[in-house]
Amino acid sequence: MASSTMKAVAVFPKTRELKLIEHEEPRITRPTEVKLRMLDVGVCGTDKEICAFEYGVPPDGSEYLIIGHEALGEVIEVGPAVTTVAVGDLVVPMVRRPCPHEECRPCRYGRQDFCRTGDFSERGIKGQHGFMAELVVDDAVYMNVVPPELRDVAVLVEPSTIAAKALFQTLKILQRLPWFDSSQLREREPGGRAYRALVLGAGAVGFLGALALQTIGFETYVYDRKPAPNPKADLVQAIGAHYVSEQTTQDFAHLLGDVDFVYEAVGAAHLAFRAMQVLGPNSIFVFTGVPALGAGQEVDIDAIMRNAVLKNQVILGTVNAGKADFQSAIAALGKFVQRWPETTRALITGRYPLDAYRDMLLGRPGGIKNVLSFETSIRTDNPKSLK
Ligand SMILES: [Zn+2]
Ligand SMILES: [Zn+2]
Repeated sequence: MASSTMKAVAVFPKTRELKLIEHEEPRITRPTEVKLRMLDVGVCGTDKEICAFEYGVPPDGSEYLIIGHEALGEVIEVGPAVTTVAVGDLVVPMVRRPCPHEECRPCRYGRQDFCRTGDFSERGIKGQHGFMAELVVDDAVYMNVVPPELRDVAVLVEPSTIAAKALFQTLKILQRLPWFDSSQLREREPGGRAYRALVLGAGAVGFLGALALQTIGFETYVYDRKPAPNPKADLVQAIGAHYVSEQTTQDFAHLLGDVDFVYEAVGAAHLAFRAMQVLGPNSIFVFTGVPALGAGQEVDIDAIMRNAVLKNQVILGTVNAGKADFQSAIAALGKFVQRWPETTRALITGRYPLDAYRDMLLGRPGGIKNVLSFETSIRTDNPKSLK
């Protein structure tokens, strides 16, 4: 039987090219696998960095890597041993796959997001082809079913898992405080102080983090570069959060020493370490961005260390996400859509056809989240989104 091919977007690191290619159609070869027809694939900074050849590793023996890791697909075929998903289901696949080492307990436990050896692979990033292809085959264990009513926003699930994991860890850490009870987040005693969160960056990861923080009851501040008024500030205000920017330092003054949680989502080290100055007693700082290595920066490390000790602070990094985080991201997205339907949908800036991949990956399309859609042949801008 002659094998047929499908279209996919791939990078060729050796020749530094980005191309639309014909790739052999994947087939189910194991009883636990499923086949997906891809619907939407989101583009983020990681994809752009792969397309700039800053990283991205093709699978062994391949000269190219099919990119794409923020995906939504529809199940079109299942292996005989698959019981958790069915044909017709909408699914968001997980990105990271476990390392092969027997002694790596996180991977053996199914939590490869905590892999100790670094030999994990990631679809569309490191050692395995990604999802920017017409068809994908993968094990059912990595599939997360999404309710049909989230079809138009489900491509936001994968970037939402970053906040889901960070907040799960944060709530665990807050429980070190014997008086902490998560209901206090929402139900404040009369005259009581709210738990305050500062989100650094109003991109997709930051914004989805802000939505999650507002949902669980933090008083949320979102920092971004541009002074208000601007469209991002409007979105922040639409969810009841406060927008702060560099230019309006008075916005920051009252936060000094009084923030319980900082959620860093820009990958800019200088800004992040400066923001540590707003951390209050018993607070938590979570890094999610990955800065490029570069010039040394000057920050007051004595003050940061002093505060960390004297104020019982926790400074935490987080990457990737586990199955439970995907499940809670799906549930959270359902809540966002119910509570802020227009704002949540406005995070998707536009849907591009496959042919427009170069503009999306090499250009600067702007907005918050641009999506490559396998179901459109013309570019469709979201009329409600930011430009
Ligand atoms: Zn991404
Ligand atoms: Zn591992």
